[in-house]
Amino acid sequence: MKHLDSWTIIWNVIGITGQVVFFSRVVVQWFFTEKKKQVVMPDAYWWLSILGSLLLLLFAVFYDKHYVVIFSYAFPWIPYVRNLIINHRHREAHLDCPSCKRPCPPEAKYCSECGTKVVAQSAAISV
Ligand SMILES: [Zn+2]
Repeated sequence: MKHLDSWTIIWNVIGITGQVVFFSRVVVQWFFTEKKKQVVMPDAYWWLSILGSLLLLLFAVFYDKHYVVIFSYAFPWIPYVRNLIINHRHREAHLDCPSCKRPCPPEAKYCSECGTKVVAQSAAISV
């Protein structure tokens, strides 16, 4: 173990915080899945993934300095950000039911909740 100076303590706090944040994403995802009774990947999952892996990348680059750990956290942010973009575009493309306000898929003609005709818009999904 490295000498326990101030920087060692600071980097260990950053590393442990990164681990806690990175693990918490699974708890958050599980909570939303149980709440909705179907597997969902909420935006919070991807934001916690980005924050946790960024902290762990900083820890790896500036403290651990091991290439295996650095490479583990150097690139996963790319699909995390991409999934956030796709989630956002997916929500934007959905239409709100004029009657009950339930979000309906872009191709829906009628609301699955109340049966009201959904007014189609030209909201194309450009992924
Ligand atoms: Zn409705």
